Amino acid sequence: MWAQQWHDRLDDVLPYSDAPLVNLTLALIKNKYTIKQMYTTAEEFFTSINLYPMTPKFWARSMFQKPTDRDAVCHPSASNMQYHNDYRVKICTIINDDYFYTIHHEMGHVEYYMSYEEQPFFYEDGANSAFHEAIGDTIGMYASKFLYIFNIEKLLFLYINILVSPSHLIELGFLDEDDITPHYEINYLMRMALQKVAFLPFAYVMDKYRFALFRNQVNRQEELNAKWWNMRIEYGGIMAPISRHDPENFDPGAKYHIPSNVPYSRYFIADILQFQFYRALCRLQGHTKRLHMCDIYGNKYVGERFKEMLAMGSSKSWEVILESLTGENKLEPRAMLDYFDPLYKWLKMENLARSYPVGWKE
Ligand SMILES: [Zn+2]
Repeated sequence: MWAQQWHDRLDDVLPYSDAPLVNLTLALIKNKYTIKQMYTTAEEFFTSINLYPMTPKFWARSMFQKPTDRDAVCHPSASNMQYHNDYRVKICTIINDDYFYTIHHEMGHVEYYMSYEEQPFFYEDGANSAFHEAIGDTIGMYASKFLYIFNIEKLLFLYINILVSPSHLIELGFLDEDDITPHYEINYLMRMALQKVAFLPFAYVMDKYRFALFRNQVNRQEELNAKWWNMRIEYGGIMAPISRHDPENFDPGAKYHIPSNVPYSRYFIADILQFQFYRALCRLQGHTKRLHMCDIYGNKYVGERFKEMLAMGSSKSWEVILESLTGENKLEPRAMLDYFDPLYKWLKMENLARSYPVGWKE
């Protein structure tokens, strides 16, 4: 409802209708997936690259479903209880593709908690808060590719039951990679762009707006709401569907992080950083071209290198920690551009051919 990611609108802008994407939500329902299986499936990806399995307390004490006997804050979260392997998530899970992704995200926080547990108390933290947000998303990118690209009906079953490498899948005849056409790939990249690229202006505006408030640059009687929408259209080309008025309306207050005072630039940076992690892990695997097709599932060597970085906690500066995995010591948006390069070229041609104007008027 915040238009923070746009992949739910994929059908409106699908580049090629002859190559529809796998509908992950339908596949989950058709395969009678349970909420528990969504978690074990995510866990299985992490353990396939030698990251940690969830602890018994995680399974016993997490909240996986919306309680029916009381109110609960349903905003998804992960907690490190700092005591005897007690890590938990709180997610009011619904069986669909978005929650499948959320589970990877929150489990990524838990993987990070477990990885830096050996550090002195002072360093038991992410290299910075964006690192913490990016870990699960990085794995989520591999996992979603895995499920979208391969024969999902058969694969979901295999994925949760046995450890399978892609080469093994080819042997078994389950891999559909040869059937992946350029049309399918562009459709897949479009879906990812609607999720990941469209998120950047939203995340940027969140803290831009909060900081403007903190600096008293907003007249709270006259433009508390208008300022929000001015920024939404300026940076993201998004406007309210009906007219909104100060001081009656306060739309940014509907987004969890605003009233809860959670900084948001971490998500903006994590959105860029996760492509940097993704590209680094692919390079370690020896995969350099068509980045979106790379797959680290089951690669324990790559996982170990990832784990080494996670285990550093906040014991060094984030630049040094980043460099230990990626060889790069600064935030590098080029990785995201590399990933979307085929889509970017395609869009440029499309826009030219149809003389579509690029951008929007305020
Ligand atoms: Zn998070």
